[in-house]
Amino acid sequence: MTTAERFREETLLSRPIRDLGLTIEGTALESLVAEFLQELHRVGIRRLRPHFYLSTQWIVNDGTIAIAIPFYLAHPELRAIHAEKTGWVEGNDRAELLGYLRHEMGHVVNYAYKLYEREDWVQLFGSMTQPYEDNYHPEPFSRRYVQHLPGWYAQKHPDEDWAETFAVWMTPGSNWRAVYLEWPEALAKLEYCDRIMASLRDRDPDVTVAERDEDVSQLTYSLEQYYSANGTAPEEKFPPGLDGALHAVFEAAGAASAPPSVPRVSGAALIRRCEADLLENVYRWTGHFPERTWPLLRHLAHRADELQQVYPINREATVLIALTTLVASLAMNHVLRGSYFSGPERNGTPERTSTPSLAQPSVAAG
Ligand SMILES: [Zn+2]
Repeated sequence: MTTAERFREETLLSRPIRDLGLTIEGTALESLVAEFLQELHRVGIRRLRPHFYLSTQWIVNDGTIAIAIPFYLAHPELRAIHAEKTGWVEGNDRAELLGYLRHEMGHVVNYAYKLYEREDWVQLFGSMTQPYEDNYHPEPFSRRYVQHLPGWYAQKHPDEDWAETFAVWMTPGSNWRAVYLEWPEALAKLEYCDRIMASLRDRDPDVTVAERDEDVSQLTYSLEQYYSANGTAPEEKFPPGLDGALHAVFEAAGAASAPPSVPRVSGAALIRRCEADLLENVYRWTGHFPERTWPLLRHLAHRADELQQVYPINREATVLIALTTLVASLAMNHVLRGSYFSGPERNGTPERTSTPSLAQPSVAAG
């Protein structure tokens, strides 16, 4: 272990998170928040000022106007640890971070003005009392919903539908009237948002509660404890049928037919190298959570290793297309049916439930 690694082990990973001295002030998040507040001003939100704090995930708790930002975004080293432990980060760059803030601001507006109590709101978005299920089953490209965060997130719950609609509405240059011209139901929601936000311009919010939940200064557990409780997905069994699929992915690339002079490279290494992009894109287009795709990819890489799968180096694009399509197809199966394989040999795949833990897994924006 190098000195740097030992420093990381001893200080960052094992100390209580509250003792790491994490704040928004003095970090890149400070100017991000400042930029966001200017954006709010520009779209005419001047009477409602949200609060910001660091917690375990992106969330606005019901009935408050306080936006929680994941604590790991406050420090590059913590961001790296988070990526290493969970496979992905919610907010890779400034543009994505602003996207998350706009989404969370949708919740703030909803709670601050109690929009969810309005009949016209309920007619368009649905009732807030609908159960909030982690395992939602999105229909990709449904024209009833806008697209903003990955994973067809608007389809999760009426509150998320509103938050996503609001986020699209407030995104500078989103050009939503043209973009959603052929999506009448989504466009109606955006037009509604536009009307209601104009009407709220000069109105003080009904709710100004800024109570924090799990503020970073109260987190008594360490990163080590946090990730051992939250970093892993429910155990999933992978039937042996995937060996055949892997064989098809790499053999179809012409491993057998390419001239021997073309160097062969490891299929497992390719899977590992593309892990982050696969997690992100599979989530974006299927709604399959990265925390679930991750063990699947690890399993595929392990099997590709065992089976000594290789491909000719000049066929990498072909192999990647085959691999991506395979993973997306498995993911879609899981989103729709709750498991990668149907039939009696599905091994009783557990439903994704909240297990007793230190905090909720940060699978998606709250
Ligand atoms: Zn949300």
